[in-house]
Amino acid sequence: MSEPLFSRVALIGIGLIGSSLSHVMRREKLAGEIVVSTRSEVTLKRAEELRLGDRYYLDAAEAVKGADLVIVCVPVGACGAVAQAIGPHLARGAIVTDVGSVKAAVVSAMKPHIPEGVHFIAGHPVAGTEYSGPDAGFASLFENRWCILTPDEDTDTAAIERLTAFWEGCGSHVDTMDAQHHDLVLAVVSHLPHIIAYNIVGTADDLETVTKSEVIKYSASGFRDFTRLSASDPTMWRDVCLNNKEAILEMLSRFSEDLSALQRAIRWSDGDALFKLFTRTKGIRQQLVEAGQESAAPNFGRENEKGEPAE
Ligand code: NAP
Repeated sequence: MSEPLFSRVALIGIGLIGSSLSHVMRREKLAGEIVVSTRSEVTLKRAEELRLGDRYYLDAAEAVKGADLVIVCVPVGACGAVAQAIGPHLARGAIVTDVGSVKAAVVSAMKPHIPEGVHFIAGHPVAGTEYSGPDAGFASLFENRWCILTPDEDTDTAAIERLTAFWEGCGSHVDTMDAQHHDLVLAVVSHLPHIIAYNIVGTADDLETVTKSEVIKYSASGFRDFTRLSASDPTMWRDVCLNNKEAILEMLSRFSEDLSALQRAIRWSDGDALFKLFTRTKGIRQQLVEAGQESAAPNFGRENEKGEPAE
């Protein structure tokens, strides 16, 4: 039997992403041993009940000792403090990575605390759900999804290759890019849609002339598709907004300009402009299906009222 890719993996943070990593590492035998650390006793106890690790620590510094891979799976705003706490206890030659949805701010916050002889490679698995906590994880979360690594020019090539092999072992495709570029791309494909969803759902909730029960009752007409995004974890999304300010503000101002143009087309009954835009955007969904990033099933592959999957 071949050796696992890493002999000891420390997961710092054991919510949706940390627990999903634990499940897939076990299934694919990617780690000889899994060490779990989280800041609260409640979460640590739950992780133990779910058997997500082989050893459990409240103290992240204890957990990383002797690990050859350390994966920091906490909200973006907490990554710097975690790096500071674990820095002096990291084993020489270890790889330290994270899974945060923002990269430039995380690199600036973590890198100064990583000692010589330890390889730091920031990362972001572009996969998730609206659920949080150690119960939310599942082994197939990263399957056929992209994981973006943002190494520096001077990052050790062998360490990048090893981390790439790890994410491929989790079922992901791996891309590498510059941290700033990552933040710009993700501002368009993830951060902006979430902010728009939070806003739309908030607007509907504030309406006084339409009752809340009507919003819920008729939600299948479009509203409910935004509620999946707007149900995402508030701490995570607060931290994403605070740590990717520039790119998000840039995308929001472009969005506002385009929305004004759309508003004008509706006001002046410019049917041609509306039809042209709606035709262009319809094609994007087809491209997602072809790229294997979305189901071609009607209604997003949702179950029907009888609980059967859509055809
Ligand atoms: P989660 O389910 O809410 O779990 C968060 C984990 O971080 C828990 O172990 C929690 O510990 C710990 N934590 C929370 N605040 C902390 C703090 N201030 N200091 C130290 N530890 C703290 O979160 P998640 O969804 O797994 O997200 C983790 C990371 O993955 C985030 O950086 C997020 O941007 C990124 N990410 C998320 C998704 C997604 O869809 N959710 C997708 C891709 C990447 P306790 O429970 O003990 O308090």
